[in-house]
Amino acid sequence: MSRVEPGMVWLVGAGPGDPDLLTRKAERLIREASVIFYDALVGKGVLDLVPAHVRMVSVGKRSGRHSKDQRAIDALLVEAALWGERVVRLKGGDPSIFGRATEELDACRRAGIATCICPGVTAASAAAADLGISLTLRGMARKLVFVTAHSRNGAGLDLDWSSLADPHATLAIYMGKAAAPLVAKGLIEAGLSPDTPVALVENASHDCQTNFRTTLSLLPIAARTALGGGAAIILVGEALSAVGSIVSHARFDADYSHKS
Ligand code: SAH
Repeated sequence: MSRVEPGMVWLVGAGPGDPDLLTRKAERLIREASVIFYDALVGKGVLDLVPAHVRMVSVGKRSGRHSKDQRAIDALLVEAALWGERVVRLKGGDPSIFGRATEELDACRRAGIATCICPGVTAASAAAADLGISLTLRGMARKLVFVTAHSRNGAGLDLDWSSLADPHATLAIYMGKAAAPLVAKGLIEAGLSPDTPVALVENASHDCQTNFRTTLSLLPIAARTALGGGAAIILVGEALSAVGSIVSHARFDADYSHKS
């Protein structure tokens, strides 16, 4: 199935923000929809691609979304599909990564509604591209872990620190800004070196992207002081050591051109 038929629901990945990172398929599906339910993380440039006749419904709160809200979203999708709408549920990044996709798919399937997923570029990939590095490193970073540091209702983080504190892994920590002190503490106590390279990338792929390179021991203060109010991802691991050398190369080039 590759079209948005009346009465079906497509979960479509909007990518990290830059409309050029939308897949061609996602762009086509957006144009075929009669109604689009979209999250707060969907980039403005992506929303600008939606044709004027398509009904747009914002269902996003940036963080702290309550499960009742999620049930309300599930119900909206089901209702629209049962009315015969061509429904696109547009989600930031990839719908299958920390996107509450299961709840929405289950609700639709229980109601007998056909569903499909269109993948998108996830925040970790966009952040790596902004930093100009690889998330994996032959022989050194052989494992890439997508993990969320979002705690339910402010409860403590229930993460398996000993498996996360792997010096051969790169951690891509989603929703980790508030919990950065707990992340640093948990990883260091589980044996990861306090000097492990860390990068924070805010608004990856957007024009207003910012990034900051630090170490695990300084992560709590960096998360508090170096980030603004945008969506931010924390990357941890030896693969991030390449960020520093790229910055110094850029400086070298600048000095060189200045002298010549
Ligand atoms: N499905 C999304 C993730 C949703 S969870 C994806 O695949 O990217 C929301 C979290 O994703 C944010 O709190 C942040 O940690 C991260 N995120 C999403 N977009 C981002 C962006 N443009 N830059 C940095 N982090 C981003």
